[in-house]
Amino acid sequence: MALAALVILAVAAVTGFVVVKQGLGSGADNSEQAVRENVPAEDSAALQPAAFQSVPLPGESASGSGVIGAIGPVAAVRITPRPPTSAAAVSTNDKRLAGRVICIDPGHAVNTNSGSEPIGPGSSETKTTEPGGTSGVISGVPEYVVTLAIAKQLKVLLEAEGAKVVMVREGDYFEGLARDRTLIANQAGADLYVRIHCDGSTNQSANGASTLYPASIPGWTDDIVVESTRAARSIQAALVNGLGVPDLGVVERSDMLGFNWSDVPAILAEVGFMTNPDEDRRLTSPEYQLRVAQALDAGIADYFSAS
Ligand SMILES: [Zn+2]
Repeated sequence: MALAALVILAVAAVTGFVVVKQGLGSGADNSEQAVRENVPAEDSAALQPAAFQSVPLPGESASGSGVIGAIGPVAAVRITPRPPTSAAAVSTNDKRLAGRVICIDPGHAVNTNSGSEPIGPGSSETKTTEPGGTSGVISGVPEYVVTLAIAKQLKVLLEAEGAKVVMVREGDYFEGLARDRTLIANQAGADLYVRIHCDGSTNQSANGASTLYPASIPGWTDDIVVESTRAARSIQAALVNGLGVPDLGVVERSDMLGFNWSDVPAILAEVGFMTNPDEDRRLTSPEYQLRVAQALDAGIADYFSAS
C-alpha cells in the first residue's frame, strides 16, 4: 500500500511538472524567453534544468509500458539531480542564446605595444596601443592570463546555450592595433561585444566590480549607446549578485578605443582588483574564474532576454 501510494504521488508530482513544461516549451524558443523575463537570474536555471531536457513525456516513450514505465526515469532524475561541476555542465541544452553572436575580448596580451593610435575613426587624439594590464599583488599573475581564463570559461557557457562565440584571442598573444580587437567584433556582426578586464589601483584596499559603457559620441557611438548601456546594467547587476563584491557601478567612458571603434553594442567588465590581496587570490583561482564567467553569462542572458 505504502509503495502504491508513493507511486501515485510520484505520478501526480511528475505529471504536474510535465504539464508545466509543456506549457513553457510548446512554442518556439521565444516563449521560453518571454517567461524568463520575470525570473530572477539566480532562479532561471531552475526553469530549465539540464537533466530534464531529454526525459520523455508520459505516453511519448516508444518502449515505455504505460505511464509508470515512462515516468520511472524522471523520478530518479529528480531525486538525484547532477550538480553543476564544470562550465560545460551548466545550462546544457538550455538554448536561451540561440542565434546570438557574442564577441569576447580577453583584455591585454603577453606582448605590449607602446605605439599610439587614434581613439576613434578620424581622431587626432591618440592613446597607447597596448600598455599592458595590471598584475596580482600577491600572485604576480598578469591580468591577461586571468582575462583569458575567464573568457574561455565564458565561451563554453555561452556556446552551451546556443550562442556563436567569436574570441578576440585564444592564446597569450594579440598581434595588431587596439582597434583591431574591436574590428573583429564589428566584422563578426556581434550582437554584443564583451571586453573582460581586471582592475588595478595604487590603493590596495580598493575592491569590487564595475562595468564600463560608451558615452554617446556623434558618428562614433551614438548608434550603440542605448543597447550598450542596457547591457552594462545587466552585466553589472549579475557580477554584484554572482560574486558578492562591492558594486562600483556602471561607468560611462568617452576615451576608450574599444568603444569608439565599435559598431556593435559594447561593454567592458572590470571584474575585480588584482591589486587587492583578497581579490587577487580569488581571481587567480579556476573556481572563482568560473563564478565570474557564470556571472557574466547570467548578465548577458538577462540583457538578451529583455531585448
Ligand atoms: Zn585591463
